Amino acid sequence: MIRRMRRLAFVFAAFVVAGALASSAAAQVHEVVPGIWLLRGTFTPGHQPDGNTIVFDGTDGLIVVDTGRHVAHTQAILDFAKQRNRPIAAVVNSHWHLDHIGGNAMIRDAYPNVHVYASNALNGALTGFLANYKKQLQGVIPETQDADQRTAYESEVHLIDLGTKLAPDVVITSSGPRTIAGRTLRVGLETNSVTAGDVWLFDESRSVLVSGDLITLPAPFLDTACPSRWGESLDRLAALDFDLVIPGHGAPMTRKQFTAYQSAYHALVSCAASTNEKQRCIDDWTAAIRPLSDADEKFTRSLMGYYVDVLRSDAAKARCAG
Ligand SMILES: [Zn+2]
Repeated sequence: MIRRMRRLAFVFAAFVVAGALASSAAAQVHEVVPGIWLLRGTFTPGHQPDGNTIVFDGTDGLIVVDTGRHVAHTQAILDFAKQRNRPIAAVVNSHWHLDHIGGNAMIRDAYPNVHVYASNALNGALTGFLANYKKQLQGVIPETQDADQRTAYESEVHLIDLGTKLAPDVVITSSGPRTIAGRTLRVGLETNSVTAGDVWLFDESRSVLVSGDLITLPAPFLDTACPSRWGESLDRLAALDFDLVIPGHGAPMTRKQFTAYQSAYHALVSCAASTNEKQRCIDDWTAAIRPLSDADEKFTRSLMGYYVDVLRSDAAKARCAG
């Protein structure tokens, strides 16, 4: 429990630093390629992150991939739909982390006919990881003096309490082509990778891959991952014929940049498995992703210091055994 508390504190502290550095990146939707828009997930001081949101034009309305965590992020999605004068017909969640599903309830309130597609992994998380996280939050809330910080913790509890309102009504159980809101996309399901169920989308007509947190910058967020299976997922993604990939966190990448990320990931896992000094793994990762990342390098290093410890933990190994 003490270890977990320290981790919670670390994660929040890290994101406060990031917020101070990244607050100029205002939440704005921009067209990446014709018919595909991106709302970059941002950090704000004292807050946890939002994942990237990607919007596709479907024939029945908009398809929204991931809905953010904070109200401002989800509101930007709703504002975009209103501005385009199109309903949100479908939501696809790449995975159950709160920075990707937190806005589902708000979107359902605004568009009651929306269909939410995701794996069923949220079920396990609600009784496992998220239940534990809620207990940690409830432990720190009474002793948190800073009002903004306390509100941030309370918002997290509120999201977890939404429970099944964040869950899919269409459960993705296998990979293959799927027609969503009248548009056919290739849907992939990776199991026990970053989470128990990670969904990616491939738009073959535009050669664009939406990877969710199978790609995250400035560091792989390994908190719920089986590291080796994550690497295998990256290798499967590499076999797809995409020109552009939109990650769960960070800017869109060319195929060349994806290949650099894939190599950096494998090198990181090998480094963590070796007897190398932790600093060496941090240095190698930071150098490898420097051309891909717009994050502050000090922040990258602090995150990676934490994640090398995660990679070397028994908990990470246990997640691969399940
Ligand atoms: Zn995320």
